Amino acid sequence: MDIKNNFRKSVLDLSPYNVSGHPAKIKLNQNESPFDVPEDLKNEIIEEFLRISWNRYPDVFSRELPERFSKIHGLPVESFIVANGSNELIYTVEMSIVENGIPVLIPQPTFYLFEKVAGILGGNIVKVFAKSDLCFDEERILQQARHVERGLVIISSPNNPTGKSAKSEFIAELLKSTSAIVLIDEAYIEFSQYCSMMDLTKSYKNLVILRTFSKAFSLAGLRVGYLVANPETAHQILKIKIPFTVNRLSEFTAIKLLEHRDLFNDRVQFLKQQRAVMMNELQKMRGVSVIDSDANFFLFSTFLPAKEVFEELLDRKSVLVRDVSSYPLLEKYLRVNAGSKEESSYFVDSLKSILVG
Ligand code: PMP
Repeated sequence: MDIKNNFRKSVLDLSPYNVSGHPAKIKLNQNESPFDVPEDLKNEIIEEFLRISWNRYPDVFSRELPERFSKIHGLPVESFIVANGSNELIYTVEMSIVENGIPVLIPQPTFYLFEKVAGILGGNIVKVFAKSDLCFDEERILQQARHVERGLVIISSPNNPTGKSAKSEFIAELLKSTSAIVLIDEAYIEFSQYCSMMDLTKSYKNLVILRTFSKAFSLAGLRVGYLVANPETAHQILKIKIPFTVNRLSEFTAIKLLEHRDLFNDRVQFLKQQRAVMMNELQKMRGVSVIDSDANFFLFSTFLPAKEVFEELLDRKSVLVRDVSSYPLLEKYLRVNAGSKEESSYFVDSLKSILVG
């Protein structure tokens, strides 16, 4: 018996999602916040958590967070769906739209999970490659999207891993020119010079936005992401969402963090500066080039192969960055995120010494 015969064809060729799990002194590979939730705030949350019953289920779909979001963003409560990280919502949205042969337009290079889930579901993946400066090829995306009557267009903005954003005029035109659902993943929007497109969900039923607490809100470990769409659209997506995925600790913590938005705004400002400092330092190095970014990370290349730089940084300096050289168009590139002052300068010095030899 070959056990593989039982599995869907679209599953057999896949590998499990993989992030380099090497322990490292300096970790700049997952675009996380280098700053943890402050200890007094953690204590406050834990105290409250001791009073919550662990034997009872949480709400089937978080209710309190959507109420908070509704007040903050001035959109209907029914526009919001909360999940165990935005990864869960990528699955949820794609499962509600994609089936055999349904077109899924995905600009490249981008976050691999979009393509992976579309592939599992049998979607017809249409790739539009970035221009030579790695910006979105807006014209070609529009051209392709015009042909899609039913399906999905996925834009990560700012885009992981290029750091390039989609301009609001382009998104507005895209929404007008296709009847497909346009999914904008705004995981890094807090770091961007552009605003969220969330408000457009009032006028465009085909717009779905993803947001996360994993980056700007320092909460990657507790897994909270959310979706914003017109209530009619959100209603369809909610039908297939896995129930009870947002646990009580995570929901409560996210609510608390929303009450401390100033702290996280300050951290975002700091990290944007830090990214600029790091880019500036790298730009001064011989044979190194950097790609301008609108997120808390950026791409860089050196005169050495990316894999070699990755390994040298890790083995000799215990610095973990992301080798993105297997992505289309990024053969020479590595991705690094802004860290604390100490982490960032340690990374810069480490790279310098590796390149000097
Ligand atoms: N979307 C993008 C574009 C990302 O880069 C990431 C994190 N790597 C995610 C979604 C996942 O975020 P979360 O932690 O909310 O699942």
